[in-house]
Amino acid sequence: MEKLQNYINGELVEPLSKCYFDNINPATGKVYSQIPDSDESDVENAVRAAKEAFPLWKNTTKQERSRIMVRIAQLIFEKRDELAAAESKDNGKSLKLAETVDIPRARENFEFFASGILHFASESHQMEDTAINYTLREPLGVVGCISPWNLPLYLFTWKITPAIAAGNCVIAKPSEVTPMTAYLLSKICIEAGLPKGVLNIVHGYGHKVGNAITENDDIKAISFTGGTKTGQIIASKAATKFKKLSLELGGKNPNIIFEDCDFDKALSTSMLSSFANQGQICLCGSRIFVQKPIYEKFKKAFIEKVNQLKISYPSDPDAQLGAIVSKEHMDKVLSYVELAKEEGGTILTGGKKYEMEGEYKDGFYLEPTVIEGLSYTCRTNQEEIFGPLVTITPFETEEEVLKMANSVEYGLATTIWTQDVTRAHRVAQKIESGVVWINCWLIRDLRTPFGGMKNSGLGREGGFEALRFFTEPKNVCVNV
Ligand code: NAD
Repeated sequence: MEKLQNYINGELVEPLSKCYFDNINPATGKVYSQIPDSDESDVENAVRAAKEAFPLWKNTTKQERSRIMVRIAQLIFEKRDELAAAESKDNGKSLKLAETVDIPRARENFEFFASGILHFASESHQMEDTAINYTLREPLGVVGCISPWNLPLYLFTWKITPAIAAGNCVIAKPSEVTPMTAYLLSKICIEAGLPKGVLNIVHGYGHKVGNAITENDDIKAISFTGGTKTGQIIASKAATKFKKLSLELGGKNPNIIFEDCDFDKALSTSMLSSFANQGQICLCGSRIFVQKPIYEKFKKAFIEKVNQLKISYPSDPDAQLGAIVSKEHMDKVLSYVELAKEEGGTILTGGKKYEMEGEYKDGFYLEPTVIEGLSYTCRTNQEEIFGPLVTITPFETEEEVLKMANSVEYGLATTIWTQDVTRAHRVAQKIESGVVWINCWLIRDLRTPFGGMKNSGLGREGGFEALRFFTEPKNVCVNV
């Protein structure tokens, strides 16, 4: 059975402990590869390599860094079929989604920051005839990037690309639930000629590898995407060491549908925003609010469409929902179905494990689930579930829906459906959310600031925001 390896100092190596744990294919429930159970000593080795590589990488011209990143992007493109198949197998997502979203976006992340670094400029501030200030921006040194399982290579590369483009050396840890494409990326980096030590990938558990990255004194910044609780642990440890932090955390996103919306578009896009990637995208709209005059009509049409969704094994070209990432996560989602019932909710459709046959019978599949009749303050409507489960709630006025939408601890993304342009902008202003989509969902321009308010995160990723995060500004004042 294939054993994944760490990528340290330009080489693929075993964990020092020589210990591994199982990697499970969620579509079948079977173990199919072995993941290095790395620990602090592997992180220390990686940090040593990164520190050694840093002076050279920092002084490599932007053009050369950019060229290497473009080579990596090209190899991702050439190996897209292999990468998409690996992503789908590791995560349970449909192969089609991996082919059309995850892998193209990983390539784009490399291309985007390969170009971004060539356009990144620092500021200058003139004080009439007294002085000129200019800002130098230098890489931080060795930085840590920790990513989750839902969009494995997509989010992993979203972090490491601005970091290395800006001249830092990176210690990166993919999720232990979905490590395969990060492992394949390490082979690509070797093939592309990325200098040794610039990127180091250490596999393993969060409480071991992630914790060692967070606590290591030589790591100057942490860019983390994952759950809010993990973000709190990382923040509490990193704060005492004055590390720079970028945190992209959980969400409980509202999808607000006003009576004057383009009904068909709101309906079809809400199918995607509810159930794409089995609802396991941090930007999915898990709380659907529909204005009363169209509530019954929308509910009926929505349920009809949900009932037509095809749940299938990930490589089925017609699969609209694949497998849930793990048994543990499937059980968590199912526990929220039980909670919703206790809280007085009515299951309009779904609510159960979806039984497959043959080689997929032990896989982790869930029916897409829609629940109504819950108060907006109950736990089902306040806590992140992160699966194919949405609630649907009627509202009367704009004030009422804003109160309900803003009642949660999170503030990541919101979708607003209305043809009234004034209302669209007014609600967008009042909603507590870092990302707002009006009459659309998941359109992403990589130049825009991306991130959450409240307990959904700290700081913003994307475009120059990310390059600013991964650099240290220094002001130089010249008397003239
Ligand atoms: P998670 O927090 O369990 O794990 C994320 C990463 O952190 C993994 O690599 C894990 O190994 C590591 N980790 C775990 N414990 C750690 C510790 N003590 N110290 C350091 N690292 C540790 O999250 P997950 O279950 O992999 O992902 C799902 C979560 O990610 C959801 O809450 C989702 O909303 C969030 N998410 C947010 C965004 C965003 O952009 N805001 C994007 C995707 C996912």
